[in-house]
Amino acid sequence: MTKRIILAGGGHAHLAVLTDWAREPLPGAEKVLVTPARHTAYSGMVPGWMAGHYRMEDCLIDLAPLAEHAGARLVYDAVTRLDADWRLLTLASGDTLSFDLLSLATGGEADLSSLAVLGERLLPVKPVEQFLAGWTAIAESTGLLSLAVVGGGAAGVEIALAAARALRQRSASIALVCPHEGFLPGHHQRVRDKALGALGRSGVTLHFAQAAGAPGGLQLSDGSFLAADHVIAATGSRAPAWLAQSGLACTDAGYAAVGADLASTSHPAIMAAGDIVERIDRKLPRSGVHAVKAGPVLAANIRARLGGGGLREYQPRRRTLYLMSTGDRRAIASWGELCVAGSLVWWLKDRIDRGFVARHRRSPTASQGA
Ligand SMILES: Cc1cc2nc3c(=O)[nH]c(=O)nc-3n(C[C@H](O)[C@H](O)[C@H](O)COP(=O)(O)OP(=O)(O)OC[C@H]3O[C@@H](n4cnc5c(N)ncnc54)[C@H](O)[C@@H]3O)c2cc1C
Repeated sequence: MTKRIILAGGGHAHLAVLTDWAREPLPGAEKVLVTPARHTAYSGMVPGWMAGHYRMEDCLIDLAPLAEHAGARLVYDAVTRLDADWRLLTLASGDTLSFDLLSLATGGEADLSSLAVLGERLLPVKPVEQFLAGWTAIAESTGLLSLAVVGGGAAGVEIALAAARALRQRSASIALVCPHEGFLPGHHQRVRDKALGALGRSGVTLHFAQAAGAPGGLQLSDGSFLAADHVIAATGSRAPAWLAQSGLACTDAGYAAVGADLASTSHPAIMAAGDIVERIDRKLPRSGVHAVKAGPVLAANIRARLGGGGLREYQPRRRTLYLMSTGDRRAIASWGELCVAGSLVWWLKDRIDRGFVARHRRSPTASQGA
């Protein structure tokens, strides 16, 4: 009997699954990919695109040929509800889809709770596809410009530096706001020092404070007010609201609870990876690196669930290599306590990023032997 397997979301974690299906048929399966958009943006190249080093199309992966070669039916829609017990998805269009096996990788939602009052001045980095359009409008606007980036994680730092690069010919003031402990958390002090140097050289003003949206800008926890025409929210993501009512086991923070095998702890027919999950066996930061590396394990375990056999575990190495661009065709490499910066690191990052997109861009015929 044919089993229906649904991939919800066409982002980083699911690309490896589509590639796996393209390489080797999955007998007895009806494959479906639910995605709101045809293109998925490779987030690691977005700051480089803002800084003018890439064209927008360089950062986009077209899901249509990937799905076609994988033998998956594309449904352009978004999941709005999951009934885990009844194995039923409800989509934004009102359609429903039942499934035998579901893989969730819809990423997280932008956490805008303290900034929502900013209305049209606010530009969240997620969904990335909307951010691309929002940033294009800012970059093409004219006149004086004050821009604040809220969030001191790698994405916030890279975006502030890229914005400074992009707007360097204009009278623009650029600020980065985050609490002291929120500045590149999880990275070594040497990485933070290099990032501080890059921010200083680029003219980005750093405010170590909590920010709350206010009319015309940001009210900071140190009592000062930061006027801003535009505020980019890189405040991290939170679990999608529809997970809470799904019946799926979720962590206290609302993420899908999975083990090392990426299977839901409550519903074995549901697997998940990327920013939507929280591991119950160990703490892993939410990052594209882990989403991408979990992909092949997810692909193998989907096969195992359908065809029998044991599940593999995603066990990342103790240290993860992060490469952060600084807007000037240079980058900072962070690997545990090791930190190197410069144009050679950018060259490496550029090669890795372009290579990743190129691997997922081949035409169906070309990728046959990949
Ligand atoms: C600007 C920026 C730069 C970044 N740079 C880096 C970096 O250099 N290194 C790094 O490790 N991490 C980086 N990250 C983090 C990284 O992008 C995420 O951790 C990663 O994308 C998570 O992958 P994912 O598969 O969980 O989700 P995503 O890649 O976000 O994909 C989710 C997909 O699901 C779709 N979707 C969303 N909601 C629904 C729904 N309801 N139904 C169906 N589909 C849905 C979306 O359209 C999207 O295509 C960056 C993030 C940003 C915003």
